[in-house]
Amino acid sequence: MSTPTRSGLNCHLVVATLLLALLGIAQVESHLHGHGHGHDTVVELSGHRKLGALSEGVTRVASLTDEAGPWNSFKTLLDTKLGDVRTGVGALKSYLQQFGYISKTDAPAGTPFTDTFDNITQTAVMNYQRSFGLTVTGRLDVATLTQMITPRCGREDVINGTLIMLQRGLTATGTQHVSVGSQKWASFAGNPRWTRKNLTYAIDSTLLSPAVTQTDTEIAIDTAFAQWSAVTNLTFTRIQSLTTADITISFDLLDHGDGNPFDGQLGVLAHAYAPTNGRLHFDNSESWSINIQSASSTLKDFDLVSVAVHEIGHLIGLEHSSVPDAIMYPSISPLSSKQALNADDIAGAQSLYGANPTFTPGTTTPGTGGNLGAAVASWRRLRAMDVALSCFGLLVASLFI
Ligand SMILES: [Zn+2]
Ligand SMILES: [Zn+2]
Repeated sequence: MSTPTRSGLNCHLVVATLLLALLGIAQVESHLHGHGHGHDTVVELSGHRKLGALSEGVTRVASLTDEAGPWNSFKTLLDTKLGDVRTGVGALKSYLQQFGYISKTDAPAGTPFTDTFDNITQTAVMNYQRSFGLTVTGRLDVATLTQMITPRCGREDVINGTLIMLQRGLTATGTQHVSVGSQKWASFAGNPRWTRKNLTYAIDSTLLSPAVTQTDTEIAIDTAFAQWSAVTNLTFTRIQSLTTADITISFDLLDHGDGNPFDGQLGVLAHAYAPTNGRLHFDNSESWSINIQSASSTLKDFDLVSVAVHEIGHLIGLEHSSVPDAIMYPSISPLSSKQALNADDIAGAQSLYGANPTFTPGTTTPGTGGNLGAAVASWRRLRAMDVALSCFGLLVASLFI
């Protein structure tokens, strides 16, 4: 049921959440200062925690919106549910279709989606919530929207109607599902794998991230491949020839000729193809870093090694996992370092290729990056507040209508 009263109640609940979020801003500021980030917008926000300054706070937070990337507009859809017609629902449907939650057949190429939150959209949102372990409400709550605007891998989570992140791992033959306990890893349909165990890779140096030198890029990519070779029978050797290498890695901008254009800064970070295609593309609009703990890091910086480890997982045949700590989980926040393979990742890789004889079962691979978990939590809290504030703005506007 949709009535103004109900809607207003929901907004009040959101405003209550907002106030709690604002109380946490000092903590955000303290943390950012602690790492020397000098993030002026956030620092200024801390001076407006009192209720009387809320409208000013709304303005301040609005200036943060570019940090949420191309999906930031979704925050205006807070609390949208079945039957609602709201500007922006069409864009949300496109997002859900981009990652497989809405079938390609539901919107022929060139036909824009309507702004009606219909049954197909509700089902897609529920499946999204299931995949990411969120409460399945079918409506666009704060947790769901915050997850949706978090930068992520460009590969789909749903393939031909199958929720990849929720299916059990396949056997090595790919012919049947097997029970593997709590593991959520998945392989590609048909279980494609490399038949040779000694693979080569080359990095296209014609376009590299402006913030990372060629040598550091090579070290970062080498480090990422080493994670996977440590647990499997695969070996990876970097060579110079892009034409003879099994795997090629490049940094690309926007439309780069493979039918999967990047979307500028934030949003999609990278994508890679299943065996034995061998292509890995990083979005070169991103601010890549090999030292996210640097004092000069910003809330737009992403750890190159972490994203590389994820994409190499695709290159060797793994799909997305719903285990949040797994490398193959689709999304990653800025300043987050997740380089070590999770048991879920290891189980998937070893099912495809067998275990490295030197690997000790029950252990994980060592990462090389720092852990800025607190900063990541702060980023997510800011995004959640961003979403909540948009509803607050609607409530204020309604008072004058
Ligand atoms: Zn991915
Ligand atoms: Zn590409």
